[in-house]
Amino acid sequence: MIPYGRQSVDEDDVQAVADVLRSDWLTTGPHVDAFEEDVAKLCGTAHAVGVSSGTAALHAAVDAAGIGPGDEVIIPAITFAATANVVVFRGAKPVFADVHPDTLLLDVEDLKTRLTPNTKAIIAVDYAGQPCDYETLRTTARDNNLLLIADASHSLGAMDQGRKVGTLADMTTFSFHPVKHITTGEGGMVLTENEEYDARMRSFRNHGIDSDHTERGRNETWRYDIHDLGYNYRITDFQSALGRTQLRKLPKFLARRREIADVYRDAFESEERVKPLAIRSGVDHAYHLFVVKVADRNAMFSFLRKRGIGVNVHYIPVHLFDHYRREFGTNVGDCPHAEHAYEHILSLPIHPRLSDDEVAFVLSTIGDGLNETG
Ligand SMILES: *Cc1c(COP(=O)(O)O)cnc(C)c1O
Repeated sequence: MIPYGRQSVDEDDVQAVADVLRSDWLTTGPHVDAFEEDVAKLCGTAHAVGVSSGTAALHAAVDAAGIGPGDEVIIPAITFAATANVVVFRGAKPVFADVHPDTLLLDVEDLKTRLTPNTKAIIAVDYAGQPCDYETLRTTARDNNLLLIADASHSLGAMDQGRKVGTLADMTTFSFHPVKHITTGEGGMVLTENEEYDARMRSFRNHGIDSDHTERGRNETWRYDIHDLGYNYRITDFQSALGRTQLRKLPKFLARRREIADVYRDAFESEERVKPLAIRSGVDHAYHLFVVKVADRNAMFSFLRKRGIGVNVHYIPVHLFDHYRREFGTNVGDCPHAEHAYEHILSLPIHPRLSDDEVAFVLSTIGDGLNETG
């Protein structure tokens, strides 16, 4: 099976992890700080907080944003469920906004119709690796006194109007799951310019404890306090070492993803039955996913899977999940563009290890599939 996405781990990555396993630090140690510095430097932000997953990163961000019971947070209907789940973890209400039918990015006009006096934040999602319209989002957030969080799980290394992802919102979260641009096995990070958010997230990832073990070591004390509860969301030192060697290869990974995307786009230019998503002007796309729309998605999905092509569907609109319907009264019809797109979208294989032959095989098999399924 050719997977839609997968990690790319080389001997230097393995060596970096092995070196840490032989050292004194397995969990929070020097590689955690160094990985945070590397990502902050790459993205041009002041602070970065490494955590145990992309979901933990989002959870830390909504906690730092002060989201709690009675608050509403606006989220696009098409995203991975974790974007909404973390709002629920905080006892707040996720409010789903519709997406643009061509890009599947948050539709800011629709978002405005969902604002209430309880709206506290927006979590924008850079679906497939394309940054949202942050200029408009920032204006909307400012005019309505909202915090803007970017779920950039898909867009490490992308840019909007020449500005890097990481600098476009109040807080930006990444995931280092194996299908994402770089991996630490499981892992995530939050970037921000705000020193208070940074401090709060450092405590949040460590049970809410107000100092870390190195600080206590330096000050020769065992004492600490807990002001607000946190979790154990720490990333380990060997994961961070892996993240650092992976990060060095990010330019190469991105270049290969973009190369594959170009081949797909060229091929579908002359095939009107397969429509890639639109790209906003002024965007440098990171291509976590290559999403197309086809008429009979279910038939095409089965056809390709049977022939060894691991296509997938990203995502089932979150407001259609049973939990959200039951707990928040969401329903079919809430976000028509998202629901319609969901019936037609298919994610094609795209990752740095995918060969030219495999790309050609995907394209010719899609051609066969169109002949059979229409
Ligand atoms: C991958 C992903 C997450 C969650 O990341 P994990 O590291 O798997 O916890 C959140 N949001 C989006 C959009 C994602 O793609």
